[in-house]
Amino acid sequence: MIGIAIDGPSGAGKSTIAKALAARFGFIYVDAGALYRTVGLFMCRAGISTEDTEGFIKNLDKIKVEFRYAAGEQRMYLCGEDVTGEIRTPLISKYASVVSAVPKVRAFLLEMQKNIAKTNNVIMDGRDIGTVILPQAQVKIFLTASAEARAARRVAQLAEKGEIVSYEEIFASICERDARDSGRDVAPLKAADDAVLLDTSAMTLEEAIAAAEKIVKEKLEME
Ligand code: C5P
Repeated sequence: MIGIAIDGPSGAGKSTIAKALAARFGFIYVDAGALYRTVGLFMCRAGISTEDTEGFIKNLDKIKVEFRYAAGEQRMYLCGEDVTGEIRTPLISKYASVVSAVPKVRAFLLEMQKNIAKTNNVIMDGRDIGTVILPQAQVKIFLTASAEARAARRVAQLAEKGEIVSYEEIFASICERDARDSGRDVAPLKAADDAVLLDTSAMTLEEAIAAAEKIVKEKLEME
């Protein structure tokens, strides 16, 4: 099986680029962040505070997380309920980030991620795919962009959906998540030694996709 790992901070364009590559190469796209978001949603609904690590651990055995594919899209299920639309709010981003710093939560989601790569050609995006989940991946890309570029893109994306948000607020929340994801003890956000670094700060989306596609082809020795 072939594995392509794309890691990097929030808002670097991982999911858009990974989806484009998955379609191009016919691989299954796995969004690892969605798993942490689904666990975060459970904790939020259960009224557990973002500081209550013990509460997260105690509730883990009540949670059933599954992902299924419908029309080529990954959909997330929490205890049988499709929660794909509900995990994309700023509050759940915060919950995902705090639950993901807890080693028992990471262990809870580990096998699920490794298993899918055993039986499928996958392209997975996350924070620790190249380092922990798929250390054997044939292609590893560490995708970054400056916090300023990521915040500006996010503001533009939300504006397209008719949501007007302040750049300063988005910038602050990106920096906060970066610090938490990079500073944690377990599986911190960092590039694998054998990852190719791709900084998209000055690239358009099309340029970033083309650059990532080139890296994949070179690594897989394709024409
Ligand atoms: O990628 P996304 O922003 O959806 O991920 C949500 C959160 O899940 C991240 O902020 C990060 O804390 C966590 N995460 C992680 N490991 C991964 C993927 C996501 O810790 N492989």
